[in-house]
Amino acid sequence: MAPMTVDKRNRQPKSGARHRAGWILCGPGKWLENGVVTVFEGRVLSVERLAESGRSGAMEDHGAGVIMPALVNAHTHLTLSALAGKVPYGNGFLGWIQSLMAARRVLYRDDAVEAAEAAVFRMAASGVGLVGEFGPYLPVAGIMADAGLGGTVWLEFFGNRKRLPSLPEAVGDITFSYAGHAPNTVNPDLLRHIKQRDAEEGLLYCLHLAESIEETVFLETGKGAWADFLRGLGMDFSGWKCWGKRPVELAAELGLLDEATLAVHLLQVTREDMATLAESRVNICLCPRSNANLHGRLPDIEGFLSAGMAPALGTDSLASCDSLSIFDEMHFVAERFTGLRPDQILAMGTINGARALGRQDLGRIEPGAAARLIYVELKAGSAEQAAERLVHEPNEQVTWLG
Ligand SMILES: [Zn+2]
Repeated sequence: MAPMTVDKRNRQPKSGARHRAGWILCGPGKWLENGVVTVFEGRVLSVERLAESGRSGAMEDHGAGVIMPALVNAHTHLTLSALAGKVPYGNGFLGWIQSLMAARRVLYRDDAVEAAEAAVFRMAASGVGLVGEFGPYLPVAGIMADAGLGGTVWLEFFGNRKRLPSLPEAVGDITFSYAGHAPNTVNPDLLRHIKQRDAEEGLLYCLHLAESIEETVFLETGKGAWADFLRGLGMDFSGWKCWGKRPVELAAELGLLDEATLAVHLLQVTREDMATLAESRVNICLCPRSNANLHGRLPDIEGFLSAGMAPALGTDSLASCDSLSIFDEMHFVAERFTGLRPDQILAMGTINGARALGRQDLGRIEPGAAARLIYVELKAGSAEQAAERLVHEPNEQVTWLG
């Protein structure tokens, strides 16, 4: 990085590291051709066309491709990475959970840590810079920080638990928060208590919501395959006051849905649920590849966009999806949702995720934003073509801007 020199008249820093590329993706639909991004002390100082860039100092020319904000994987379970390829998808959601629990019981901690570490570094190499991680099992935060990632680790709680432990200290750019696992695994009183605790501490709350038909039937009737499954685990849900409501309806009634909540999945939503979600201004994260594998259906992305929402993307774990790459997730979305514009999909993989994780400083390239940036090698004759290639092609040549 070039040393800063301060002009004593206006006290403005005059130079930083300058990065040029054929295209700069500054924000949703905001492209700059033949642009230069200047970075100083981890922040974007300026972004401008090369022709207008009069600053002195060395410039790194990355090539004809795209400099863009790092991608955001808003929902993962890194601690399940060792189960990649070990949990079959074809036996329905309950079958998948039962296989997952059986595979986890015989998993050695060291193997789980090793697999999580490999998965984290592979995810960072694929261009992900910010992560929403779910699960308490392993010390993944340190691994994430070592890989240069930022994000939130949500400690998830289940069942009828009464008290919450205190949260660990932040590690690098990784902070901790409390999560309720889902309305079909957590006593509604505990879901509300966790939300209140997060709110008191100024933290973001997170939960899986409206993911499976089993969850919907269980909440509506108190019966069905999910009820049998919980009984089999020895979980007493007889005191849960949640019956007769759809998942989104229940979450709204418990006061869980607001701007400080991230709701994940939302596969089982009616038009009315969608309106409730939009009105509440809750952040949402969709995991289309995981949903296709576990539930054989896809979230209504167009519906959420038409309702004025800004869905983020998550991969879920390697036990339900082939990779933790958000390029792969965007690629899948582009193939399956042909009515979406590439810029909408890119927004889902960048700025929507950053906002969902409470990081207004990420997901865009403009003065003052955090400089967590990647360069993707490709050739494009127009901004539209660059956007098409980013979402339609397997982008394997990703470089982090130092
Ligand atoms: Zn999940």
